[in-house]
Amino acid sequence: MRKTNRKRVIVVGGGASGLMAAITAARQGAQVVLTEKNRQAGNKLLVTGNGRCNFSNRDQRLIHYRSGHPERVQAVLEAFSMEDTVAFFENLGIFVKDRRGYLYPNSGQASSIVDVLRLEVQRLAGERRIKEAYNTEVLGIEKAGNVFLVRTEGWTYEGDAVILACGSEAAPKTGSTGDGYRFAGSLGHQVIPPLPALTGLYAGENDRGTLAGIRMDAKVTLRIDGSVCTEEEGEVQFASYGLSGIPVFQVSRYVSRALEAGSKCTVELDLCPGYTLQELTALLIKKEAYTGARKGTNILLGMYPEKLSRVLLERAGISLKKSRKEWREADVRRLSEQMKKLSFHIFGCRGYEQAQVCTGGVPLSELTGSSMESALVPGLYLAGELLDVDGACGGYNLQWAWSSGYLAGVHAAGRQNEEQK
Ligand SMILES: Cc1cc2nc3c(=O)[nH]c(=O)nc-3n(C[C@H](O)[C@H](O)[C@H](O)COP(=O)(O)OP(=O)(O)OC[C@H]3O[C@@H](n4cnc5c(N)ncnc54)[C@H](O)[C@@H]3O)c2cc1C
Repeated sequence: MRKTNRKRVIVVGGGASGLMAAITAARQGAQVVLTEKNRQAGNKLLVTGNGRCNFSNRDQRLIHYRSGHPERVQAVLEAFSMEDTVAFFENLGIFVKDRRGYLYPNSGQASSIVDVLRLEVQRLAGERRIKEAYNTEVLGIEKAGNVFLVRTEGWTYEGDAVILACGSEAAPKTGSTGDGYRFAGSLGHQVIPPLPALTGLYAGENDRGTLAGIRMDAKVTLRIDGSVCTEEEGEVQFASYGLSGIPVFQVSRYVSRALEAGSKCTVELDLCPGYTLQELTALLIKKEAYTGARKGTNILLGMYPEKLSRVLLERAGISLKKSRKEWREADVRRLSEQMKKLSFHIFGCRGYEQAQVCTGGVPLSELTGSSMESALVPGLYLAGELLDVDGACGGYNLQWAWSSGYLAGVHAAGRQNEEQK
């Protein structure tokens, strides 16, 4: 038995989960090497939440997390919760801003989150508990007996434990290029093929160009092979390539998987979610009293931007030259149907460059409980987006990174185990 716990822990990747893991392991008494291929840690964090870093959310219901093993996600989130995350950052000096449950640093700057993490790493480095190895790309990981050999270009680090925290393939400019999948695979783990998620969707309709630039509140229904898969509400952004905006991002992970499986995906936009089809039809009939003399898109003035009105009328088969008085009952019905179900055939998700996260990764069933330790390779720990967990927009992906990173750090440091011996 060691008298003091000086386990050598090598963290691969200095993103959200790696920073949390390194700080935690060092605080627990381990000797940590934090490897990061970029010149500095935390690059992806800087671009989160449109530069404001939505680092967690008060609503921690499991519906916001998608994984093949939701019960394991729950165990991890309970072991290091949103409240623990808030306390962690408050202790580092962050004043938390709560915007209807969405949590941000009060400064409104993601750099505040990165700075407090970097300062804490530097403090621990000053105490010789962390060695910062930046500009250091890990090339391979092997296990020889009980020792891990972590190979970089100039050096091979030896460790008692390794924490893999290399992220996914999303936003590769920030440094996450999928190396973690390769390392996990080389150590015997399965990898559910990663696909882009929280991203825009390519639509086939030619009129998407007319709609580009418009933002409208809508209910988004995703149909896969004709059946409703999921629904989301919020501001949809029409883009030259198709559809974007948060409700579209939220459904994109299902689109990625469905298209990969060869299924057909359709997105329907309900542009009047507050009204039933009947109510909407009645409203349009009532409107005739004061719009009867108007023509084309002027009939829908005040309801939608002109370009959207034009697309709705065209799709409803109503000539733009017709005045409202000339419409038949069937015209009104077809128009209200379009307003309730403006449909787009989706043929792709935007790529990794535009995706915020990936679906897929190492299945949680290959970990030991919520210790984040590999069930296949003792001493190997996995954290963050590399695992088969993707959260909805709203701070859930970072909460997963904090929770899994913390637990990996605690268990890799092995303090509890040492004390129990
Ligand atoms: C534009 C954008 C906005 C986002 N906004 C939010 C938000 O507001 N809220 C939210 O919850 N989530 C958000 N996310 C998602 C969130 O940022 C990620 O889920 C989270 O950062 C994942 O953390 P991670 O530690 O697993 O990986 P990362 O943060 O990606 O970190 C992985 C690190 O590993 C390093 N690395 C990779 N390979 C190697 C190697 N071979 N050797 C050494 N180092 C390596 C990388 O350089 C990187 O620094 C956003 C993502 C993007 C792209």
